[in-house]
Amino acid sequence: MARLIIMGPPGSGKGTQAEYIARHFAVPAISTGDLFRAHVREGTELGSEAGRYMDRGEFVPDHVTTAMLKGRLENDDAGTGFLLDGYPRTVAQVGALDDLLTARRQSLEVVLALAVSDAELVGRMLQRARDQGRTDDNEVVIQRRLELYREETEPVVAAYSRLGILLTVDGSGDREAITAAAIAALEVALGE
Ligand code: AMP
Repeated sequence: MARLIIMGPPGSGKGTQAEYIARHFAVPAISTGDLFRAHVREGTELGSEAGRYMDRGEFVPDHVTTAMLKGRLENDDAGTGFLLDGYPRTVAQVGALDDLLTARRQSLEVVLALAVSDAELVGRMLQRARDQGRTDDNEVVIQRRLELYREETEPVVAAYSRLGILLTVDGSGDREAITAAAIAALEVALGE
């Protein structure tokens, strides 16, 4: 069973790719952004706390995010494999995930990074704002999310690169071609 992470800047298409890739490897795609949005929709206390950060493009505090992820990983479907989307986003979360997995006697196999140019990212996010009506896809918030990605999340990518488990795939262009390239590269990396 595959234990994977997908990474990429906001607008890189990682949520969409995560769904297809997870289906291929028969693991659940676990998106912390989707989990937060479900809480917001259901009007839970966690949702009202998280929503305040999300609407500004800021990160939800690590302890809140990690506790929510821990709960999700305890579901039966994530027992032996999963594809994490949107976590870890900070170096502190890398450590928290490592602790979570160590307690489960598990390790990560591959971290897949989607590489997409800045111009394409902003265009895609503005399009998504029109299509999905996401409240965190206006231009000011988009810039803040990109800035946070560079400051906080690129060091996460670098950390996984140093560990030798990073796999980078070109994320620009056609959705189906990117999915096929990502799956092919993952199969090689997983030795399948
Ligand atoms: P996403 O759908 O992955 O773009 O996430 C949407 C928003 O949810 C982010 O802009 C953050 O406010 C919040 N969020 C999602 N994942 C995390 C995380 N790992 N750490 C902190 N905040 C997160």
